[in-house]
Amino acid sequence: MENESSSPLARAARALMEADWVLVASGAGLSADSGLETYEALGPDYDQLCRAELLYEDTERFQNFWLSSLLKYRAQVPHEGFQVLEGLLRERADMGRVYLYTSNVDGHLRQLRGFPLCELHGCCEDWICSARLTPEADHAPRWARVRAAQEELLRGGTACREPMTVRMEGGLEEVPLKCHCGLPLRPCVLMFGDEDEALLQQLQKAWAQYQCWEDAMEEEISGSHLVILEIGVGRRVEVVRQETKGSEECEEVLRDVNDKGGRTTLIRVNLDEEILSRTPAAHGSEIISLKMSALAFLRHIAQLVELHQ
Ligand SMILES: [Zn+2]
Repeated sequence: MENESSSPLARAARALMEADWVLVASGAGLSADSGLETYEALGPDYDQLCRAELLYEDTERFQNFWLSSLLKYRAQVPHEGFQVLEGLLRERADMGRVYLYTSNVDGHLRQLRGFPLCELHGCCEDWICSARLTPEADHAPRWARVRAAQEELLRGGTACREPMTVRMEGGLEEVPLKCHCGLPLRPCVLMFGDEDEALLQQLQKAWAQYQCWEDAMEEEISGSHLVILEIGVGRRVEVVRQETKGSEECEEVLRDVNDKGGRTTLIRVNLDEEILSRTPAAHGSEIISLKMSALAFLRHIAQLVELHQ
C-alpha cells in the first residue's frame, strides 16, 4: 500500500511548501470550478463571437456578448482555491519569486494582489480602440470590409494612432461603446485569427515582462528549487489558438533550470488524461501528475499544508 507521505498529493504539497520559486500556469479548468463555462461547453456560437471582425459586422451583438461575459465573470465568486494559492504563495510572491500565467480572460487571478500575472489571451476587464484591428499587410476580404466600415465611421477624421487601454469600470454601459475617435471599442481579448496590432503589442509586452522574470530566476536558480504548477490547462485553447506558450513553455523552463543546476518539480493537475499522459522532455525533473479538478487539488493541498504546520 502506498505510504501516506509518498502519495503524489503529499509530494506535491511538500514541493509547493519547500519551493524557492513557483511558476503557476493555469487555464480554463481553474475557472471552471468557480462555475464558469469552459470553451468546450460554450458551443459553436462562441466561435462566432470570438471573431474580431464581428465588431464591425454587428457591433451591438459583439459588444453585448463581451460586456455580458464581463458581468458574468465579475458575478462569479472565485472558488476557495484562489485563497489557497494566495496563502501558500504570498510570502514568496512578496520576494518576487512567484509568477502566474493564464490563458483565462476572466481576470479572476487579478484578485491575488501583488502577484505578477501574465494573461496570455488578455482580459475582458480591459477594452481598447479598434483602430488597429485591420493589419496593413493583410488584404483578406474580411479586413477590407472592416476597413471600409472604419472609414465610414471616421467620416474623414483620423483614428487613434496609439490606442489606449481602458478599464471597463461599470460594465453596464450603453452599446455601441466608442472611442473618442469614433471607432468602436473591443475587449482586450485575443480572438480567433486576431491581428489587432495594438492588442498584440500589449500581450507581447506582458509576455516580455514574464520572460524578464524567468531570466532573472534562472540567474539565481543554481542550488535552489523551482516548482511549476500547471493547473487546469485546456487542450482546445492550445490547439485552436495555436497557443503553445502553455505546456511547451513549462518544459522549456524546466530544461533551462535543470541545465543551470536548479532542482525542478512539475506538478500537472488536470482532468484530461491526454494532457496528463504527455511526458515532458525535461530530464531530471520530478513529475507529479494528478487527475483531479483544480479546486479538489487545492483543497487537498490546503489540508496537507495545515497538517505540516
Ligand atoms: Zn480610437
